[in-house]
Amino acid sequence: MKTDTIAAISTAMTNSGIGIIRISGEDAISTAHSIFVNKQNKKCLDTYKSHTIHYGYVVEEDGTIVDEVMISIMKAPHSYTMEDVVEINCHGGIFIMQKIMDIVISAGARIAQPGEFTKRAFLNGRIDLSKAEAVMDIISSKNEFALQSSVKQLKGSVSEIVCDLRKEILYEIAFIESALDDPEHMSLDDYPERLFEKAEEVCNRLQKLLNSADDGRLLKEGINTVIVGRPNVGKSSLLNILVGEEKAIVTEIAGTTRDILEETISLDGITLNMIDTAGIRNTEDIVEKIGVERAKKVIEEADLIIYVIDASVPMDENDYQIMQMIADKKVIVLLNKSDLNVYVTEDKLYETISEISKNDARDSFLDRGKIIKTSMTRKEGITFFIKTIKEMFLHGDLSYNDEVYITNMRHKEALKDAYESMLQVKKSIEDSMPEDFYSIDLMSAYASLGMIIGEEIGEDLVNEIFSRFCMGK
Ligand code: GDP
Repeated sequence: MKTDTIAAISTAMTNSGIGIIRISGEDAISTAHSIFVNKQNKKCLDTYKSHTIHYGYVVEEDGTIVDEVMISIMKAPHSYTMEDVVEINCHGGIFIMQKIMDIVISAGARIAQPGEFTKRAFLNGRIDLSKAEAVMDIISSKNEFALQSSVKQLKGSVSEIVCDLRKEILYEIAFIESALDDPEHMSLDDYPERLFEKAEEVCNRLQKLLNSADDGRLLKEGINTVIVGRPNVGKSSLLNILVGEEKAIVTEIAGTTRDILEETISLDGITLNMIDTAGIRNTEDIVEKIGVERAKKVIEEADLIIYVIDASVPMDENDYQIMQMIADKKVIVLLNKSDLNVYVTEDKLYETISEISKNDARDSFLDRGKIIKTSMTRKEGITFFIKTIKEMFLHGDLSYNDEVYITNMRHKEALKDAYESMLQVKKSIEDSMPEDFYSIDLMSAYASLGMIIGEEIGEDLVNEIFSRFCMGK
């Protein structure tokens, strides 16, 4: 099938050292040939081999030199799109890039739509949809986790799992179909038990992936974190240490009052979106400053609460109030000021919580969280604190973690659908339904998983997915 030739500026539209204009399609080389001359002022691009790079000039139709460039040629099928691709490395000024782009368009190419190069890579079969989406995720990754999981996805981690699950499901579909077609030679007598076991195994694998999606989202987007504690316990000191040591970006959250800020702190590959209030910085208590109702709301929306206690003085009413508010959250308790005479020990904390909640403290938030002794003045316990956050959300170190995380919400939805279909398979077996009932749900699980890699997916959805890509990618 002949496709038209597309072109786009692939680098950012700002003045910079170098800009890249990419051309892809059957006429990519002839288009570039018509606008390029070498040092000897000759048009010769069409004679060059694939995967070579050439020095020369982009010229207008009348021969006027527009820019000094390097042009690389990648011939089909060994290119990003599997089509002939030419990349023009020109100077990165907005005006010059736009000017060269105009010349390329006049020479016959058309302006590419956002994501169209990657869409061609997908449609031409070089990458599946989950890999194509990984390309965009790499570009938009904000931290080491997001980057690493997207790179893994691009290398096929998600595709492999999905294809493997589909293969197993397809085997069962085929088995049922064959047995129904040929009952004389293939018996389905004890098949339901076998299928039940298989369905259970597939459900477990799907469930594991779905669980990873929750952590995956947090790690990719950042963990919404709130620091709570009475005034003067060391909250600002903690924030200052984190912000001081690491890169922090402060952004105001749209739609909230002016005194709530979001501070993005990146710690060893993990991003904390600190829901900061002006109050925290001014050493006033979050609960006091923004009011109990709003504090509750902020806490409710948090993925992680850091509860700072001044361990050198007894706890009081304010602590009791805070503990009740954070009772069902993931919490890290910092017993701070451990360099002073310690009054609140770990045991004391458990005791207090038991008294307030009238039940075993180990059933409370501490069961899901951790208690860490810190001293902000001596910067003690901070490394362990960061390690604890990583363990809570990443289950270990990023670089040694081979686990596949689902970070794309579209994939999560498809997995959920597949999981539900597989549950239905189990239910039909339990209800002793006829075998063709199993097939229907197996097929729908198979189709749902296919959506992830781009099989069984409509053109509209493909277009919608790629329209979210950047220009030039
Ligand atoms: P916030 O009101 O909770 O934000 O508390 P701050 O971080 O402003 O700290 C209140 C006071 O406690 C300051 O004078 C800090 O220097 C001091 N402080 C904070 N952390 C420690 C600590 O670990 N040890 C000691 N001795 N003092 C601390």
